[in-house]
Amino acid sequence: MSDDLRANSLDSYWMPFTPNREFKADPRMIVGAKGMHYIAADGHKVVDGTSGLWCVNAGHGRAEIVSAIQKQAAELDFVSNFNMGHPLAFKFADRVAGMMPKGLNRIFFTNSGSESADTALKIALAYQRARGKAAKTRLIGRERGYHGVGFGGISVGGMVKNRMYFGSLLTGVDHLPHTHDLAKNAFTRGEPEHGADLADALERIVALHDASTIAAVIVEPVPGSTGVLPPPKGYLKRLRALCDKHDILLIFDEVITGFGRTGAAFAADTFDVTPDILTMAKALTNAAVPMGAVAVRQDIHDALLEHADGPTELYHGYTYSGHPLACAAGLAALDIYENEGLFERAGELSQYFEDAVHSLRDAPHVIDVRNLGLMAGIELQPRPAGHGSGQPYRGAELFRYCFDDGVLIRAPGDIIALSPPLIVEKSQIDQIVASIRKGLSKVA
Ligand code: PLP
Repeated sequence: MSDDLRANSLDSYWMPFTPNREFKADPRMIVGAKGMHYIAADGHKVVDGTSGLWCVNAGHGRAEIVSAIQKQAAELDFVSNFNMGHPLAFKFADRVAGMMPKGLNRIFFTNSGSESADTALKIALAYQRARGKAAKTRLIGRERGYHGVGFGGISVGGMVKNRMYFGSLLTGVDHLPHTHDLAKNAFTRGEPEHGADLADALERIVALHDASTIAAVIVEPVPGSTGVLPPPKGYLKRLRALCDKHDILLIFDEVITGFGRTGAAFAADTFDVTPDILTMAKALTNAAVPMGAVAVRQDIHDALLEHADGPTELYHGYTYSGHPLACAAGLAALDIYENEGLFERAGELSQYFEDAVHSLRDAPHVIDVRNLGLMAGIELQPRPAGHGSGQPYRGAELFRYCFDDGVLIRAPGDIIALSPPLIVEKSQIDQIVASIRKGLSKVA
């Protein structure tokens, strides 16, 4: 690695969600990206099996997005959207609204998935209060859920390490059980057969707290960060029906599943279940500029406007909400998705992808393979306690093997998550799967 890439020191940068000491002892620097590939500092090409971090759905370095950002930066670099506006934010909101499931046509811009989750929860609470149901304050999440790292998101989320260090979190939160069931559903292709009844846990939560105290339920239609968990057949419809029955808002966190990942524009389309509020981020701009958004049913928006106790209807927003560069990048990204039919392409490729990932069923350590659209989880047998290698997770070792072998996978623990850009070629799917197979044969 050249001296400037090694930098004077790697110490100053406190890296997010990373074993900092381990990384800095053996850094993996990326210096470029184009199409399906990253370029590592030593010059070797790495095929991107993870769309960056579930976000570069149209592939890297798209010229149309680059020039849209450049043009916008030169024309209008920034204007606050508090009491001001710029045309692109309105245009982009219109475009996003046009893609949403029916009725979710009011769009609030944020800068990330975490902010989208917290924004959605706040809108749910403010709406309940605005329509005279101020006692509806409880928020219901789900075990193994990930809704980012804000206090709202970690409170309704269900990842223990993301919660346990940070105090008592939001009060008045409860959780549905997760739907991952290896005993009944291992090696399922698509939606598992068993587990729709787990949605009925909402009835127990209602029985415990009463519906008059519950504002909203938030779930990822397909939890991604905890290992790609497609919902059991009928589960989301059941959850929708129960929310309707008890007058509870249903929020879908589509930060990962949005923009073609499931083989349709949104998971709401794939599963034919319409939430009341839908969060997005990541592929909204193909990740070229950070941005998130929350789509809201019009009558929820209207109720907040109608019952506002002053001229400002919602006391919420970010300096960079609707940032001009993000809107420019987003419009260019949506053009690419549409012009190249990438969501349909993801749907068409999903069978090939499914067959490829399920071919790993007999690879060493594999205890489950699951998939939906262009996302897959491959679960490995955890190492026994006291295993000698110093590295508790097979996934971490596999990640290193594959990276050196020219393939980027995501494997934070013992679950490999794959989510290639929607432009992936069949030969690249084969390359990713072959590298994982080779790597698994080397991991003890
Ligand atoms: N929600 C979901 C479902 C996610 O998967 C993520 C990130 O992976 C987030 C929220 C948080 O997004 P961000 O990292 O942009 O804050």
